[in-house]
Amino acid sequence: MEEHKSINFIEEIVEQDLKDGKYKSIITRFPPEPNGFLHIGHAKSICFNFGLAIKYNGKCNLRFDDTNPETEKTDYVNSIKTDIQWLGFNWDAEYYASDYFDQLYNFAIKLIEKDLAYVDDSTSEEIANLKGTPTSVGSDSPFRNRAIAENLELFKDMKAGKYPDGSKVLRAKIDMKHHNMLMRDPIIYRIKHAHHHRTENKWCIYPMYDFAHGQSDSIEQITHSICTLEFVPHRELYDWFIQQLDIFPSKQYEFARGNMSYAITSKRNLLKLVNEKVVSGWDDPRMPTISGLRRRGFTPQSIRLFWEKVGIQKRENLIDVGLLEFCVREELNKISLRRMAVLDPIKLVITNYPADKTENLSAENNPEDENGGHRSLAFGKELWIERDDFMENPSPKYFRLGVGLSVRLKHAYIITCTNFDKDENGNITAVYCTYNPDTKSGQDQTGIKVKGTIHWVDVKTANTAEVHLYDRLFTVENPGMEEGDILEYINNDSLKIIKNAMIEPSLSEARKEDYFQFVRMGYFCLDTESSADKIKFNRTVTLKDNWAKKK
Ligand code: ATP
Ligand code: MG
Repeated sequence: MEEHKSINFIEEIVEQDLKDGKYKSIITRFPPEPNGFLHIGHAKSICFNFGLAIKYNGKCNLRFDDTNPETEKTDYVNSIKTDIQWLGFNWDAEYYASDYFDQLYNFAIKLIEKDLAYVDDSTSEEIANLKGTPTSVGSDSPFRNRAIAENLELFKDMKAGKYPDGSKVLRAKIDMKHHNMLMRDPIIYRIKHAHHHRTENKWCIYPMYDFAHGQSDSIEQITHSICTLEFVPHRELYDWFIQQLDIFPSKQYEFARGNMSYAITSKRNLLKLVNEKVVSGWDDPRMPTISGLRRRGFTPQSIRLFWEKVGIQKRENLIDVGLLEFCVREELNKISLRRMAVLDPIKLVITNYPADKTENLSAENNPEDENGGHRSLAFGKELWIERDDFMENPSPKYFRLGVGLSVRLKHAYIITCTNFDKDENGNITAVYCTYNPDTKSGQDQTGIKVKGTIHWVDVKTANTAEVHLYDRLFTVENPGMEEGDILEYINNDSLKIIKNAMIEPSLSEARKEDYFQFVRMGYFCLDTESSADKIKFNRTVTLKDNWAKKK
């Protein structure tokens, strides 16, 4: 018999439901509100909902939960679609809660007719005052016993635009003494004279989340409506509406939100970072948004692998961002093109190399990929090397350059440092060396061993590029949980801009879809704003985790 890979508690339910014949096949949905860009937390829900549909041969819908006209925009709708597809998923159908406004309105009429809903003229303050507390019951509104006919009339007038915002609401008539506060006559419709990004000015009443979500699930015949733990108390209300309306019995299941360290996963706070210009936009490479991660050079596979490793839990916890970085390194190590770039250049002069000579060395694109091929790499008398690959007074454990020390130049020769130049401020301006022509990489029979290998770029053929290096955007591990304003926890050194990095010539032909490893410096990709006259790279991650060490 086939052994089962361990499955999570929701998959257990799905398998049981399928086995029992409760459903022939499953339908899930991903229901974003188009009021911001998707973030790493949403990716968990996307991977899970779409993943379930794939695994069990079902369907997954994309449904925009667009019932708050004031905060929602078509731009957000488009970014959400782009991000889901980039993550590698395709929805079976694209729906909008706003498509159901007529049906939802009719559901409300049905509740009124069953004497299960009433129009309340109380102010929001009065409603709150009568709500009670978790330890004390609430009391009935003076409008609770309005006649059905009067409620129908008033509700129609609400829809017709006869009343101003906030003057009336429609409430479900359940039980003001219910142990679950959400069951104490919840508001199901409010008046809002606002323009909606899709229905425009057709409506001036809008359903509340609880009266839109479950019913939309039901209209789409969603079998497993999966949401995050904060909706546990809503489940009772979700079931109540479905039961009273006698519609398709969708069921809600909850799992723990995905929280990642040094990130925030609240659209409201992410919007604040954008509005306050702490970042350049929703897709700033430091943002934990899908678009930010993409611009930073994270791959869809790495994000999917990350959430797969985390799994689906019943209790919330904070996942180390180091795990996401581990996942992207794993993948980039396999697929990235190796290139050389010098971020903090000083000149190296090979005194015994002919000034007019240029060699074209052959260098592997990716040693991890047999079919990766080779590129041609120009080599000449003058090279750029990293400033910190030379030390005036090298310590005994320093295996790079210093007078008398030898290293291998990656893909090229072994060199020995002979002397250096210094300006009046004590800054090194040039380093001199000799090379050994018998030590060419791949052809070296000398048996000479050196401890260090350094990267370099040929001066004559080098190009310049701007390189952005990133650090954590926040100074604390869990900024969302800190007291006070999120802006107090911003790391002011989260972006370092290098204006004149030197890059090997092949990098001038870099394409936006390429992933690179700059030898010894980390993983990089072209920035979305890079152009032929201003090449711009973002560092995705360093090669090794130096965060743990820094701590
Ligand atoms: P925010 O507070 O950032 O606006 P939200 O939950 O209101 O988040 P929605 O657009 O309503 O955002 O979310 C769409 C779906 O994604 C919902 O099913 C929601 O439960 C899920 N989701 C949102 N954040 C997370 C998260 N951090 N982890 C897992 N799922 C999430
Ligand atoms: Mg929401």
